[in-house]
Amino acid sequence: MKQIFYKSTRGDRRLFTSSQAILQGISEDGGLFVPDSIPDLTHEINSIVDMNYKELSYLVMSEFFTDFDESELRECVGRAYDSKFDTENIVELKKVSNVYFMELYHGPTLAFKDMALSILPYLMKVSAKKNDFNKDILILTATSGDTGKAALESFSGVDRIKIIVLFPKNGVSKIQEMQMVTQEGDNTCVIGLNGNFDDAQTGVKNIFKDSFFNKKLFDMGYVLSSANSINIGRLIPQIVYYFYGYASMVKNGQIDKNEKINVVVPTGNFGNILAAYYAKSMGLPIKKLICASNDNNVLTDFINKGIYDKNRDFFVTISPSMDILISSNLERLLYLISDCDCSEVKQLMNSLNTNGEYSISQNMKDGLRDFYGNFATQKETLDSIKEIFDSDKYLIDTHTAVAYSVYKKYLEETNDNTKVLIASTASPYKFTKFVMKALDSKYSYMDDFSLIKEMNKIGFVNIPDSINDLENKEILHKIVCDKNQIRTKILDFLNNYK
Ligand SMILES: *Cc1c(COP(=O)(O)O)cnc(C)c1O
Repeated sequence: MKQIFYKSTRGDRRLFTSSQAILQGISEDGGLFVPDSIPDLTHEINSIVDMNYKELSYLVMSEFFTDFDESELRECVGRAYDSKFDTENIVELKKVSNVYFMELYHGPTLAFKDMALSILPYLMKVSAKKNDFNKDILILTATSGDTGKAALESFSGVDRIKIIVLFPKNGVSKIQEMQMVTQEGDNTCVIGLNGNFDDAQTGVKNIFKDSFFNKKLFDMGYVLSSANSINIGRLIPQIVYYFYGYASMVKNGQIDKNEKINVVVPTGNFGNILAAYYAKSMGLPIKKLICASNDNNVLTDFINKGIYDKNRDFFVTISPSMDILISSNLERLLYLISDCDCSEVKQLMNSLNTNGEYSISQNMKDGLRDFYGNFATQKETLDSIKEIFDSDKYLIDTHTAVAYSVYKKYLEETNDNTKVLIASTASPYKFTKFVMKALDSKYSYMDDFSLIKEMNKIGFVNIPDSINDLENKEILHKIVCDKNQIRTKILDFLNNYK
């Protein structure tokens, strides 16, 4: 098998093995790690049909994590995709009217972030061992709501790893916040930031670049890493479910072998849809990648005009995990559509940093032809939830509803009736307030927790264990801080840790 190495999108020419890239998280020059080539699985498309999720995970990941031994990688996969998921299939596919919802939320924290974060701690442990790492790993992660809990859950109690999660104090749902601040495990720390997700993500990125602070951490025995989708250890496992979703459709007789499908992804940081793009580049028969945004529609404009401009109002919406104006993983797409021109990528990223915008060349714009971009307003999102519930008694969460709404626009504009796979990214139980309000205004006056029971009453599936008694759990994390206090809070946590 071909060895894959990783290098920066911004020109640092050093090559890293996958285990090194996973440990480091982000390149020293501020760029993101990208594989030096994308493996081709075209010849496997027929054989994947009979694989279960674990077998498929192994197949896809072994192509990218080429310095892992077979036994190491199989063990990571086996430990990740087990009974912590509430379905043996790990991912469920539901056909509702004419679309296929790929439910990626059957993991412990009820959002698709579990798909990759269940395996990341195991990948990191193996990576540390392979590289004779003698420091402890400090995971520092910004979250728009779902990554935080999924990362806390998966890293809690893991030996020699500590994790700090930074979330926008007033930018997540009540249930998301409670999931995080009740997290047990003395290696975990949760900080509410006065600011939005972009402030949190920029704060984290600045800390990664701060060599003085990193030296200080190093002397205390720590090396920073990331659990955000800037880490390839998160991105690669996300490719798997696109293969799995496709294979399921073939297996169920819903599409023919090698028939092309469209994929719709509710997008924020561009990680999930980038994984779909990688899957397409590896030979999975995908026609269009439909990038769905909410009112924070910076990506819609980018895909349609080739201009990325974050200088605009920021909206706190009912799909908070997509309330993002700086989509980090887009940098990896820029790298690919510029034919791996690192100096071009670096220039664009500098422009984003200094002017808050950049525009790409005609050549690069041509590389976006596989994408369709549009957005859904909050009203359209709520209407979609109601529409699907009324017609099929099927509930989708607000993020998935953004995807569905944008798909309807796509269909209307193009009449393209290619079969469509919609990434269903969170359980409706995670956003009860918005989802129930969409069904009936009488629910507007009830809080998130009473609405869990109401949602259950209207005939939806059982209440997931993880939120069943969330309301009564003790709040263990109470730190709130401003942007300029993040470093102090990190040091406080590490100093108090015995
Ligand atoms: C994180 C998240 C998204 C956005 O995914 P990206 O990879 O950041 O584009 C969409 N929906 C939900 C529920 C999420 O948690």
